Amino acid sequence: MRRVPWLGVLLCLSLAACEGGSGGGASVERSVNDLETLVSTVGYTEAYSDEYQPPSIGDIAAFQQSLEYLFTGDRAAASRRAADIGYELTQVRDALGAEYACLRERPSRVLGRGLYCLRMQGGEDVHVSAPHPHYDIDTDIQSAAVVRGVGARYYSLSTAHRCSSIARSPCDGSTLACGAPGYRISDAAHNTQSFFQEFTVWVAGRAPSAWHVQLHGCSAAFCPSGTEADVVAHLSAGSREILPDSAPVNRLNAALRRRVQAVRPSATTHSCSSRADADDRTLCSTANTQGRYLNGSTDACTAPAASAADSRFLHIEQNLDLRRVDSAADPITPQLLIDAINEALLGRR
Ligand SMILES: [Zn+2]
Repeated sequence: MRRVPWLGVLLCLSLAACEGGSGGGASVERSVNDLETLVSTVGYTEAYSDEYQPPSIGDIAAFQQSLEYLFTGDRAAASRRAADIGYELTQVRDALGAEYACLRERPSRVLGRGLYCLRMQGGEDVHVSAPHPHYDIDTDIQSAAVVRGVGARYYSLSTAHRCSSIARSPCDGSTLACGAPGYRISDAAHNTQSFFQEFTVWVAGRAPSAWHVQLHGCSAAFCPSGTEADVVAHLSAGSREILPDSAPVNRLNAALRRRVQAVRPSATTHSCSSRADADDRTLCSTANTQGRYLNGSTDACTAPAASAADSRFLHIEQNLDLRRVDSAADPITPQLLIDAINEALLGRR
């Protein structure tokens, strides 16, 4: 779709934040009212399409510079640098007054490199990410709700289906998620040469105390929904290390499980780092490249994490129930996770 020149002018008249870009154009090219709308309208590369194109080292440098400009409030410079890699700036101003500046691919050139947002004022040092849209069903929309519910300052969403590419990722790990064994280069949680990985690296550098909450969906085989023994979530810090109850991953697990069991006593949640859950060590994300980076790996692609003892990484595998609001009477919804994060990580009751 081509933009009409006057649309930008109208947009600017309605936005205090509009600034002149190069050649006098607007630096903010689109504006939407909530993150869910943005997430549901960005372009994605779909499964087995082979349309995902990994960025070059130069592309990653331009992406990092664009983030840096956004962080310092120079939207015009951020927009110009983003244009060099086929990205544009979209502003989100939601009903609660939170404003986000988001870098998205231009609709005319969708390569599946992701959507990235920074909250411009206020908020909490939390990075919410969703690496597997359209595979981990509903985690795209749900992640936007979690960003708002916890007031996260940072948001990353892969816009490539994890099975988009045919080429194998050079990074560790094995999976049958895409038919033939192995992770694909389009798998945002298992490839380091990506904007998605760079965003985590950049946030960790700018906000070392930020929590990185990564949302996934797990299959009914591991995380049954609607049974007499639901497993609503598997949590990990990117490790199978047993950690004390005071470790963030175990605190978050306890806060979530308490909420889940208050509304459905037969259901539970598990932590890969809890001694009490020692009989269940599945889905512990030890090869996740963001988790490895945050946990001190020397090479997140090929080397295991050093230690998860002080991990800021929280990997959450969710059953279908937790990812969405099924009906007005549904007691297991994303709000339970939002409330648990607010309590366990941000000290809000
Ligand atoms: Zn996943």
